[in-house]
Amino acid sequence: MRETLNQGLPALGLGTAAVPALEAFSALLLERNQVMNLTAITEPKDVAALHLLDSLALVGLAGLKRQNVVDVGTGAGFPGVPLAIALPELRVTLLDSLGKRVNFLQESCGKLGLNNVRCIHGRAEEFALKHREGFDVAVSRAVAALPVLCELCLPLVKVGGQFLAMKSSHTEEEIGQAKAGISLLGGRIIAVKDYVIPTTDVVHRLVIVEKISPTPKKYPRRFAQMKKQPLG
Ligand code: SAM
Repeated sequence: MRETLNQGLPALGLGTAAVPALEAFSALLLERNQVMNLTAITEPKDVAALHLLDSLALVGLAGLKRQNVVDVGTGAGFPGVPLAIALPELRVTLLDSLGKRVNFLQESCGKLGLNNVRCIHGRAEEFALKHREGFDVAVSRAVAALPVLCELCLPLVKVGGQFLAMKSSHTEEEIGQAKAGISLLGGRIIAVKDYVIPTTDVVHRLVIVEKISPTPKKYPRRFAQMKKQPLG
């Protein structure tokens, strides 16, 4: 793991000061993964590349530094926890609808002394009722198809802020299907960036959506409705 991080972080333009904390988080993740379902990736070297470096690729691709960020459907903490570790000035809200995962994150962030993180157990569409347009940036990885994901995430972003959707590289169709809905939600796609995760040949894609006007109050709808009739 250390070798992968020492090689991969400089390739992302980052220093290696965060390596001990990233390793400590991975150890907590793999330990708890033995008794609950947190990740299918269990080789430390793969955790380093496919979870940690993939998450940290956002720093350079989206110019993250000191924004107020919400990670929607964070699961075991990706991409939010590595970002909070590497960028102590970032303020990160980890949001997930599964209480057990949120408990794991709460405990782990406590052990790591990460005081720029808060962990929230809740559904994004309900969280938006009280935290509408409350964040500079929303990020999300592996949670839903883009049309649904945009309805979950864009209401949380301030006008002038961004929604960063982490996707696989085979998402042309999904992006096409999401465009009309993104416009209804007050956004527009400003960039689609493919990147190779350092130390691997895996290509992932970041879709950057800028929030250009307030999201109409009728969104987000209830989850069942979003799934049944995605915006488009
Ligand atoms: N982002 C993490 C990653 O890339 O490893 C976790 C991905 S996991 C496949 C999807 C997570 O999204 C689950 O932990 C699930 O509980 C959460 N989730 C799904 N729908 C959600 C919603 N509407 N609001 C909040 N969390 C949600």
